[in-house]
Amino acid sequence: MSEPKKLKKPRGVAVVIKGKCIACGARCQSACPVNCIEMSESGEPIILTAKCIGCLKCLKICPAKALEIFFTPEELEILREIAAQQGAGVPVPEEIDEEAAALARKLAEYKDVWVFVEQTEGVPARVSWELLGVGADLAKARSADLCAVVIGSDVEPLCREAFAYGARKVYLIDAPVFRYYRTNSYLEATCHLIDRYKPEIILMGATGLGRDLAGAVATRVATGLTADCTGLGIDDKGHLMQTRPAFGGNIMATIMCDKFRPQMSTVRPNVMQIASYHQGATGEIIRESCPLREEDLAVKVLEIINDSTHKDSVDITAADFIVSGGRGMMGGDNFALLKELADELGGVVGASRSAVDAGWMPQDRQVGQTGKTVRPKIYIACGISGAIQHLVGMQDADMVIAINRDKDAPIFEVATYGIVGDLFTIIPAITARIREIKATKNG
Ligand SMILES: Cc1cc2nc3c(=O)[nH]c(=O)nc-3n(C[C@H](O)[C@H](O)[C@H](O)COP(=O)(O)OP(=O)(O)OC[C@H]3O[C@@H](n4cnc5c(N)ncnc54)[C@H](O)[C@@H]3O)c2cc1C
Repeated sequence: MSEPKKLKKPRGVAVVIKGKCIACGARCQSACPVNCIEMSESGEPIILTAKCIGCLKCLKICPAKALEIFFTPEELEILREIAAQQGAGVPVPEEIDEEAAALARKLAEYKDVWVFVEQTEGVPARVSWELLGVGADLAKARSADLCAVVIGSDVEPLCREAFAYGARKVYLIDAPVFRYYRTNSYLEATCHLIDRYKPEIILMGATGLGRDLAGAVATRVATGLTADCTGLGIDDKGHLMQTRPAFGGNIMATIMCDKFRPQMSTVRPNVMQIASYHQGATGEIIRESCPLREEDLAVKVLEIINDSTHKDSVDITAADFIVSGGRGMMGGDNFALLKELADELGGVVGASRSAVDAGWMPQDRQVGQTGKTVRPKIYIACGISGAIQHLVGMQDADMVIAINRDKDAPIFEVATYGIVGDLFTIIPAITARIREIKATKNG
């Protein structure tokens, strides 16, 4: 009997499945070894099929399964012949399925949404309760529990607070060695909990502490971390859709961590709505201990200096009324105009980055992507053009009033009320009118 004809297995070419691409950020393009993928303006791949070698790398990396391999009828015939010769099915899809199944099994070991409750000397950071708000939506979508993580010394009262803000369970590590935040001690404690309970999602505040801890934890447990998220959602496979400004704020990127767990994000204060408070709500406290002694820690806390007691320091994130100035203020001295208006409103003065870079205002007043995110009742933007990097820091204010002499300034797109004109005339007029109204009321 003659040997069966030796057939060369065709590899096909990658093609895009219409309507499935989620514009994840050109992962397929970066995975392609032969540069045969270009990206359209909407962020979808265009396959240069003449160059494609059917290596499957783009299929494997695509989080939305939006690519498939196309075989011509002739190639399909050869595949069938090979399969018949080998007495096995066409191997290509099976290989992919096996890999996907192993990954799915690994990811399924992780469950629940955790929020790290940041505290200093037992005082919680408000952002933790904001994260319980968004965490509740994520937990609901995953039919999972919303859990809080409390680490500190004498911090059990925070567990009750966490229940009131919606947590079902609290993982508590309470020991004197955790009184002050130190990266190593909190890293050990958090990783101890992760190893033991395997959360699917961990959220932390994008504060100094949260950024430090989240980066260390993600590195230790070898997972992805998306910093400074401005939006969080979840897809039907449990992938956390983490949206944040990218490329200098010029685009909003949605980032997913599809192969590793836990999925970790930090979110800035004031970006998410605070969870509603249910006094007296209860839940389960899971007490854990982490075998760590003071002698094990190289860093010692000698003194805590609270810089918010500095005479000029202002926490703009806590203000209900913010009067912000930009390059249109033309000089630092002119910010006195804004201070007068802010004082009448019981508010504070903020600034754009241009005003800060010019030395007109200190950095702690800067609103925006590299400054602070604020959510006041009223935000008055004076001589600020409305660059995206500024908008991401203030667009969630209840009301935005913009004063700008350029009627086409982008700030007007997010403004509730817009005043086109010269701020040096308009601001003193508003201040004077408020004083008049107050005088009439008091008199
Ligand atoms: C990575 C990165 C991060 C950034 N982070 C931030 C950030 O956190 N916060 C931030 O603010 N920016 C940030 N920026 C800078 C941002 O892109 C803009 O350059 C900046 O916000 C512009 O500041 P501005 O609106 O004050 O100045 P301009 O854009 O120069 O606008 C000045 C405005 O004042 C108006 N004006 C002038 N005179 C008057 C007048 N007499 N009366 C009324 N209106 C007047 C003008 O019409 C103009 O619209 C960042 C940029 C990058 C690349």
